Amino acid sequence: MGTSTWSEAVRVLADELGRSGVPGLPEEEDRLHLADQLLVALEVRKYTVAKRTISAEPTPPQPTVISASRPVTVDELHSDPGMVVQRHTTHEEGSNHVETELPCCRRRMTFPADSDLEVDVVCQFDGLRYTLRLAEEWDGGLLACFEVGGPVMLAKRRPAKRRAR
Ligand SMILES: [Zn+2]
Repeated sequence: MGTSTWSEAVRVLADELGRSGVPGLPEEEDRLHLADQLLVALEVRKYTVAKRTISAEPTPPQPTVISASRPVTVDELHSDPGMVVQRHTTHEEGSNHVETELPCCRRRMTFPADSDLEVDVVCQFDGLRYTLRLAEEWDGGLLACFEVGGPVMLAKRRPAKRRAR
């Protein structure tokens, strides 16, 4: 503990001893001395007396998480960017890829079975963008976690063919 925290803590304890009227400690100096001894007793036994700082930063809002068994609608996905949708994956034996389905339209997709994977996925049919990560499940399987991104604009039409003149 820093010296200022130490002397603050000594002061707090000494004041408390004064208020409580513990007999035998009429002098402030004695109370400060005892308070200091109490802190030393804690310190040598490896306790740390620390002042808690109250963080002014608000805790960031936690994303909505849709579990793998719960269906979700395209409207819900569009309305809550940052939402995380979990989906089960299937893994064929001997393959280093797993398969899962998109939260919006259940289209199948295949990707490497790499727990460090982080890729962007766009569904061109529903205009949704996801960041896909994989999480290991308790049974050793991989859970697909789709974090819904902001809106995407999609080019839908092919360029018109030039007419021969
Ligand atoms: Zn889709």
